[in-house]
Amino acid sequence: MTLNGSVPDELPAYVYDLASLDAHAAAVRAALPDVELYYAVKANPDPELLRVLARHVDGFEVSSGGELAHVRGLFPGVPVALGGPGKTDAELFGDVTRLHVESPNELRRLLASGRRADVLLRVNLDVPVAGASLTMGGGATPFGMDPGGIDECVALLSGQDAVRLRGVHAHLASGLEAAALLELAAAVLTYARELGVQEINLGGGMAVSYADPDARFDWRSYGEGLTRLRRPGEVLRIEPGRALSVYCGRYVTRVIDVKRVHGELFAVVAGGTHHLRTPATKGHSQPLAAPQAAPPPGEPVTIVGQLCTPKDVLARRVPVSLAVGDVVEFAMAGAYAWNISHHDFLMHPKPGFHYVCPRT
Ligand SMILES: *Cc1c(COP(=O)(O)O)cnc(C)c1O
Repeated sequence: MTLNGSVPDELPAYVYDLASLDAHAAAVRAALPDVELYYAVKANPDPELLRVLARHVDGFEVSSGGELAHVRGLFPGVPVALGGPGKTDAELFGDVTRLHVESPNELRRLLASGRRADVLLRVNLDVPVAGASLTMGGGATPFGMDPGGIDECVALLSGQDAVRLRGVHAHLASGLEAAALLELAAAVLTYARELGVQEINLGGGMAVSYADPDARFDWRSYGEGLTRLRRPGEVLRIEPGRALSVYCGRYVTRVIDVKRVHGELFAVVAGGTHHLRTPATKGHSQPLAAPQAAPPPGEPVTIVGQLCTPKDVLARRVPVSLAVGDVVEFAMAGAYAWNISHHDFLMHPKPGFHYVCPRT
């Protein structure tokens, strides 16, 4: 459904601004002249978002057979890379452009199948990762292989040509700024050159600040840094999710009740973290939408949803004035939001979905 005004009639609702997504993705693309750009579908697989992103990216990164079928159904010919620990046979033997191998056992299963495949070996390098919000590498985790595991794979690959070693894949951390990501990229590139491969997927994980919604990852300095690091003949690829789609989504709802309990002010809104789980998983206050849509200043109020659990908190002690019936708009709800939420808990109705379309 396309939206004319800013607030849908029926609330709660998600509103995706496809025009701003289009402009943002174009700017990111332009900042990365020497890099292949894939979008990590798990951040938000909404088909309307994917259609906009498909105009700007070189391919999609998927983490399951479900995501693979979804992307193939929408864009039959587009390059797709599949990764993730614990692949089923259907996932391991799927029709993909690049397969990210996460363990020697996966590779043995692939080789035993006799199928052809182009693989990147996912490496978990023992490099310090400072300042990240999540770490997938630099220590013992179930993601990818340490250099010993990679060596085991390289040995398994010798003397056959069905499974071709194209390069390495690394997604070591998320929530990093450009300088920190470039340091990791340098370490991964050094490792790839020692291994003798020329295709390097540097993963995603570009920083997003929920505390400062206007801050943006510095794509320009990241792109310039990768241009400096890249040697002729090398293919560098990245696969951001959150930093591409997060800004285009809003979750819009309405205040059902306002009350004071033991001195603290609460506003209860329709819906809650079963629609927008991000603040519960990240432990933050979901930012309210831009000032023109935000309520006037007031006594700090904690905004909660309708669920019977103390974890159903969308934002804590926000200094705004809210009354029953007021519309509340949460920003930065375009990634790891609806699609990671526990929709069926308490059997409340699902939100509506609305799209602000780009002018064509
Ligand atoms: C989740 C994931 C990404 C995307 O991470 P963001 O933090 O959303 O940019 C990229 N690559 C892999 C392997 C992932 O698991």
